[in-house]
Amino acid sequence: MTHFLKISAIIFLAMVTVVSCKKKDDDEVVDDPKAENRKVLGSSGEDILSADIYTKLRLELLFTETTRPTPETIIALEQFLNARVNKPGGISIVETMIPPPNNGPYSLDEIREIEDEHRTQYTIDDDIALSMFFANGSSENDTDTSFTLGSAYQNTSIVVYRNTLFNFVGGPNNTTLATLETITSQHELGHLFSLVNISSDDIHPTDHEDTENGKHCVIADCLMYFSSAASRPEHEARFANRSQGDGIPVFDALCLADLVAKGGKE
Ligand SMILES: [Zn+2]
Ligand SMILES: [Zn+2]
Repeated sequence: MTHFLKISAIIFLAMVTVVSCKKKDDDEVVDDPKAENRKVLGSSGEDILSADIYTKLRLELLFTETTRPTPETIIALEQFLNARVNKPGGISIVETMIPPPNNGPYSLDEIREIEDEHRTQYTIDDDIALSMFFANGSSENDTDTSFTLGSAYQNTSIVVYRNTLFNFVGGPNNTTLATLETITSQHELGHLFSLVNISSDDIHPTDHEDTENGKHCVIADCLMYFSSAASRPEHEARFANRSQGDGIPVFDALCLADLVAKGGKE
């Protein structure tokens, strides 16, 4: 499954089914060092959150010379992971600058190729690795009124369309790039954590997953909420209201309970 967070006059999201590499048996997995990082979205939620199998976590940020995430974004990501993810062996962030692939717009297949070529951090032993590419271009799915901000497209893979975010900087309330990067990257990490109900194992049988906008939360203030009815001005106001440090949306009680059930921190 693939997830897109889109912002637009109408903000919407598409879930796309993708073929994932399945491991055949343990012996063959050893032959492919990328196999653990080539699984379907949501399948590693528990591995990321709990300390049962992996006691350490590395997040690799891939970016070009012009798309390095802001220092505030990186600090916020570190704090976010430390607050939610149970890794007694430590959490580290690896910054990797790559040559600009082209200027986009990118298809998800191209994003996968870029990750494959430039990602250096893979899951090994008790150390799980995540990858987040800050793309120097937009998604090819964008239209005049619809923009993809980010996508969680595999069990440990995220793309943030950083150039698209840049179009929303400023506005009447001086929304910052750091705010947009932080909201988008943390929302997509929520999908890697398997929210909401991506693996059909939500502990809340009802009233959690937004049935109209699948894999999102019904609680309007939650990080995993999907603002399907918001107009662009409304959405900009939403971002603006969150532009001050503590204004970044957080997980509501339902999403938090799901994360804790999978081994995340309380
Ligand atoms: Zn989403
Ligand atoms: Zn929620």
